Amino acid sequence: MVVKLADMGIRIIIAGLDMDFKGKPFGPIPDLMAVADHITKVHAICVKCGNIAQFSHRLSEKEQVVLLGEKDVYEPLCRGCFREINKNQ
Ligand SMILES: [Zn+2]
Repeated sequence: MVVKLADMGIRIIIAGLDMDFKGKPFGPIPDLMAVADHITKVHAICVKCGNIAQFSHRLSEKEQVVLLGEKDVYEPLCRGCFREINKNQ
């Protein structure tokens, strides 16, 4: 559907998370990124070291992929800090 709309000359802007809390591709966003003409990745700042954060680290022990929450449930982490926290998983 998105490709058909783009082929019709309609400008489409989509925003979403590209990875889940485990760092795995999330929902339809990876497929949409593949057919996009332009991609801008927007990052937060790692709460541990101040580098650019690519990951949403879940503070809760809950395992379901979709879990709504804010600062009480997620924190942005850079690759190094995310790997360090998850190295035993
Ligand atoms: Zn960090």
